[in-house]
Amino acid sequence: MIDLRGKTALVTGAASAGGLGFAAARLMARQGASLFLTDLDADAVAARAEDLRREGHQASAMAQDVTDEAGWAAVIEAVVGAYGRLDILVNNAGIAVLRPMSAMTKADWDRQISVNLDSVYLGTKAGVDQMRRQGGGGSIVNMSSVAGLVGVEGTAAYAASKGGVRLFSKSVALETAKENIRVNTVHPGMIWTDMQKVAIADNKEVFDQITAAVPMGRMGEPEDIGAMVAFLASDDAKYITGAEFTVDGGMVA
Ligand code: NAD
Repeated sequence: MIDLRGKTALVTGAASAGGLGFAAARLMARQGASLFLTDLDADAVAARAEDLRREGHQASAMAQDVTDEAGWAAVIEAVVGAYGRLDILVNNAGIAVLRPMSAMTKADWDRQISVNLDSVYLGTKAGVDQMRRQGGGGSIVNMSSVAGLVGVEGTAAYAASKGGVRLFSKSVALETAKENIRVNTVHPGMIWTDMQKVAIADNKEVFDQITAAVPMGRMGEPEDIGAMVAFLASDDAKYITGAEFTVDGGMVA
């Protein structure tokens, strides 16, 4: 059984009760970790921390725009102020600009790369710096996507950002392996969260097409991703770094 007692975890993009960030945070809290949650909306993310405290866990929250470098320093300072250290960082915040390449503006492209890829660089750098100040050791989990592994029509910018997350993470893992700072990526398939609800809207036909493309014939649940994140965060995964894990019902098998 995964044991995260005594560990502190920072999860970005954790404001949505039905999102992947909060699911991962809740599973890690249930295994004993102290949680620090961030997202754009201060009230929403504070409400999620309150949800965890109501379940008896240690949890704090703060507003953060993950594209803001100075903001990362402030968040790390707040985590260390609250719990004394940072053991686990989950770079989960992300957006999906789903548009065919020819319909995409440069502004669409820049926003997609900034929120999904620049943020992972800024967060990983800030997290590694803090883990080094503590003498090394730690786990960083960066949220990619199956779209970071294979091409998906209409997702060029999103796929480029998530493919970037994948190879950025592998490269940093090599730089930090000797310090026992592990860096891995998780590649969700189709998981029913706000991101999918917005993309699919109420279009049953699109929903049916998507689920038909999943060998297991259904979308995944946020906890399916959370369980993988909690495992990678734990010492059970102590010999795993620079690796990628698809959780996708067989989509890219
Ligand atoms: P979601 O929209 O529910 O959650 C994403 C969160 O990121 C939101 O709460 C949003 O406010 C936050 N966010 C966006 N921009 C931000 C910024 N600049 N600073 C801070 N926070 C910001 O979506 P989700 O499905 O839970 O997605 C979580 C992650 O998983 C994303 O990186 C997404 O790309 C990835 N992913 C999701 C799926 C899926 O099927 N749901 C599939 C593959 C990958």
